[in-house]
Amino acid sequence: MIVEDTGSKMLEIMGMGTTLCYQCGECTVSCPVGEFTGEKISVRSIIRAAQIGQEYYDNIWACATCKLCENYCPRNVDIVNIILAVRTMAFSKRKAPEKIEKVIWDIFENGNPWGGKKKERAKWAEGMEIKDASEGVDVLLYVGCEAAYDPKQHGNVRSIAEILRRAGVNFGILGNNERCCGEPLKNAGEIEYLEELVSQNIDQFEGTGAKIIVTVSPHCSKMFKEVYRKAGLKIEVMHYTEYLNRLYSEGLIKFKVGNSENVTYHDPCLLSRGEGVIEEPRDLLKASGFKIVEMKDYGKNSICCGGGGNRMFLEFKGKRLADVRTDQAIETGTGIIVTACPYCNMNLHDSVKTRAINIKVMELAELLKERIE
Ligand code: SF4
Ligand code: SF4
Repeated sequence: MIVEDTGSKMLEIMGMGTTLCYQCGECTVSCPVGEFTGEKISVRSIIRAAQIGQEYYDNIWACATCKLCENYCPRNVDIVNIILAVRTMAFSKRKAPEKIEKVIWDIFENGNPWGGKKKERAKWAEGMEIKDASEGVDVLLYVGCEAAYDPKQHGNVRSIAEILRRAGVNFGILGNNERCCGEPLKNAGEIEYLEELVSQNIDQFEGTGAKIIVTVSPHCSKMFKEVYRKAGLKIEVMHYTEYLNRLYSEGLIKFKVGNSENVTYHDPCLLSRGEGVIEEPRDLLKASGFKIVEMKDYGKNSICCGGGGNRMFLEFKGKRLADVRTDQAIETGTGIIVTACPYCNMNLHDSVKTRAINIKVMELAELLKERIE
C-alpha cells in the first residue's frame, strides 16, 4: 500500500493487532540490541505509541528485525511488522537516515544496495560457464546482492553452483540481469518502489520456466516466500541449505567419509526463526561427517549477527552482536563457525578479523563441497 497520509497510515498500524499488547515489556528486555550493544530499543514504547496512534521513531532503525522479541511476547504481537510499518511512516516523512536514502538510490540505479556496477554482478561466476536462466531451466539460482558483490562470498556461491552441477541439476543464473530482491526497500519502508521491483522480478523469474528458486541468502528466500508469494509468485522457493538437503535425501549428492571434526553452527536468525530452517543445515553437516557443538543460543533462540533490518548499511556504537556470537563460538571449543547467510558470514568474519580471534568462519556450502563424492 502506498502511504497517502499520516492518518490512514496510523489507523493501519493501530489495526495490526497492537491492542493485544498489555505492555509487559518482555520484548524490550529480550532484545539483544538493547542487552548487548547499549543501543536501547524501547520496543514496548514503540508498540504503545502504535496502540494510541502516536508518532514515535526513537531508535526504530536499530532494530535488526531478528524476531527474538517475538519469541518472548506472551501475546503474540506482530512486533517486527509493526516496527516496519512505523518505518514506512518515518520514510514517507523523510525521517529515514541519509544512508538508507542512498541505499535506495543505489538499488534504483544499479540494481543493488552496495553501489556495485550492473555489469559486474556475475563476476563471481567467471570461468564456470553457468547457463543463462533465460534459456530455460528447472532451477533458478538467485545469488543476491551481498553474495554477488562481496568477493569474500564468491567461494561459497561457486561451491553451491559446483554442487548443483555435480548433482546433475538443470540450473541457471540471471547473471548481470539479476536485481536486488528488494529486502532493503522493505526494511526502509519504501513500499511504492518495492511493489514495482517485486512485480518486475516476478515476471523475470516466471519467464525462466524454473520450478524452484534456490537462494544463497535467507534474506532473499524470506522475501520470496512471503512478499513475492503474496504478490503472485508461483515458483517454489528454497534456501540453498533446504535444497541441498533435499538433493541429499534423494540420493543425488553423496559425501565422502571425512575426518570427524567439531564445528559450531550459527543459525542466521531469518533462516531459523524466520523460516523454520533449523535441522536441514545440521543434517547436512552430520551427513558429511562433522560433529556439531552448539553455542549457548542456537536454533530458534539464535542471536542475530547484527546485519538484519538494514543495519548492514548503518553504523552503530557499542559492542557488535557479531562479537557476542564469536564469543559464544569460542566457548564451544571448536575451530570453525559455520553459517549460511552472506550477512552473517561477513559480520562474523569481520568480528574474528578485527579482534584477532583464533577461529575460522565458513559458509556451509564451502565445507560441503570439499566432501562431495
Ligand atoms: S512482549 Fe508483547 S505484550 Fe509485552 S510489551 Fe512487548 S509487545 Fe506488548
Ligand atoms: S526484532 Fe530483534 S532487534 Fe528488533 S526489537 Fe525485536 S529483538 Fe530487538
